[in-house]
Amino acid sequence: MFNMDKNKTRMPERVPQLRNKNFKEVSAGYNVEMAINEANRCLGCKTPACVSACPVNVPIPQFIQKIKDNEFEEAYQIIKTVNSLPAVCGRVCPQETQCESKCVRGLKGESVAIGRLERFVADYHMKNCEEKPVKPATNGHKVAVIGSGPSGLTCAGDLAKLGYEVTIFEALHKAGGVLMYGIPEFRLPKKIVEKEIEDLVSIGVKIETNMVIGKILTLDELFDMGFEAIYLGTGAGLPAFMGIDGEGLIGVYSANEFLTRINLLKAYDDKYDTFIVKPKNVAVVGGGNVAMDAARSAKRLGAENVYIVYRRSENEMPARKEEVHHAKEEEIIFKTLTNPVRIIGDENGKVSKLECVSMELGEPDASGRRAPVVVEGSNFTMDIDCVIMALGNTPNPLILSVTPGLEANRRGCLTVNPKTMQTSLKNIYAGGDAVTGAATVILAMGAGKQAAKSIDELLKKRK
Ligand SMILES: Cc1cc2nc3c(=O)[nH]c(=O)nc-3n(C[C@H](O)[C@H](O)[C@H](O)COP(=O)(O)OP(=O)(O)OC[C@H]3O[C@@H](n4cnc5c(N)ncnc54)[C@H](O)[C@@H]3O)c2cc1C
Repeated sequence: MFNMDKNKTRMPERVPQLRNKNFKEVSAGYNVEMAINEANRCLGCKTPACVSACPVNVPIPQFIQKIKDNEFEEAYQIIKTVNSLPAVCGRVCPQETQCESKCVRGLKGESVAIGRLERFVADYHMKNCEEKPVKPATNGHKVAVIGSGPSGLTCAGDLAKLGYEVTIFEALHKAGGVLMYGIPEFRLPKKIVEKEIEDLVSIGVKIETNMVIGKILTLDELFDMGFEAIYLGTGAGLPAFMGIDGEGLIGVYSANEFLTRINLLKAYDDKYDTFIVKPKNVAVVGGGNVAMDAARSAKRLGAENVYIVYRRSENEMPARKEEVHHAKEEEIIFKTLTNPVRIIGDENGKVSKLECVSMELGEPDASGRRAPVVVEGSNFTMDIDCVIMALGNTPNPLILSVTPGLEANRRGCLTVNPKTMQTSLKNIYAGGDAVTGAATVILAMGAGKQAAKSIDELLKKRK
């Protein structure tokens, strides 16, 4: 029997005034009853538009049918055929612009909560299934994957399932890329990422951490070591700054550094020896998801006032609506149509004030959004002791700078054949943020999948 309720089944969340004081996960996920209730909202369309709107084409109606039938492990196995990180995607994918945006139930109400159902199934599996995935027999071919973010992990997983001997080389001391160092614990608990990575290790993927490729080993040296193909999933970890006065003061961070200190180096936990400014008044500059994550994390570090400083209006903010909603619930203060022009320091070289100007919206610019224009003479200062720049990232140029013939566009993104993900060099493939610039987990995974297919095409011809 279909559930014709126009609204999604509500997912329980922790109370904003309590949750903004610690890093525990905000959303509790569905229980069995809620999941079945929501699954029954799915009409099981014959030509499901949701599937083609998913970058990895998860068989959505099929896994939802299994939930309706109370067969949760079977539902998990269906998702796993194409998505190696369902517990991650169920939590962080922007479903509202992908699968859920095409759901027919969305025409007369809210779409089916596909992401929440995916999360339910993945969490059910983690809680109830003890079985370790089995390591396939080796085919004797060696592939190196550089970077252990969602793109590298997906490429490695798909190749390992086909019997390739895959080694991931990761610059940091922990695998997971942005899933580990960027997205905060309260949105994506790290034990979930670790579990997904353990499963890859069980099927034979080797992970070498603290290996900065381009410094410790070059790509040519990897080929000399017997790797026959290389996948570059190195992400976009190079932060942008505004180029205004005062960016070198103590208390100015890129969002990446701020979040890494918190997520990867546990600066919020006294047991860890990680320094971070414990700020009172924080300005986070930017309006994307990264800005929301940084602001909500700063609040959890104990800051009294956390401002999102954004030069356009809320309508133009690139952050997901849900993230903005959660940030507001957690008492983050939005200062829109505001742009910093100078960071002012005290006698100890620490941030003490932020000088800003007011903005108004003019004609649309190249991005199609109305361009922010300075209101002359509107300068004002705010008492601020920490500034976090969340202005976007580009790929780190290290590997590019030491690999002759490897090509990139003018933004520093590696150029690839979009059908095969092959770079300008033979046997070297790339994907994820390293190619697209900062994008999404699922797009990075899709690229990793496509590259794995091409690498398999290339190597299976060899004896
Ligand atoms: C704070 C934050 C929040 C986000 N929230 C969301 C969200 O909610 N939903 C969503 O879909 N997307 C989100 N994103 C974007 C998403 O995380 C990225 O698009 C995705 O992680 C890209 O995956 P990737 O594998 O290409 O790169 P990454 O995840 O960046 O992984 C690249 C890895 O390569 C390693 N590496 C780099 N250079 C080298 C080298 N020379 N040698 C060895 N290793 C190297 C890096 O250390 C890193 O571990 C967010 C991003 C950030 C920063």
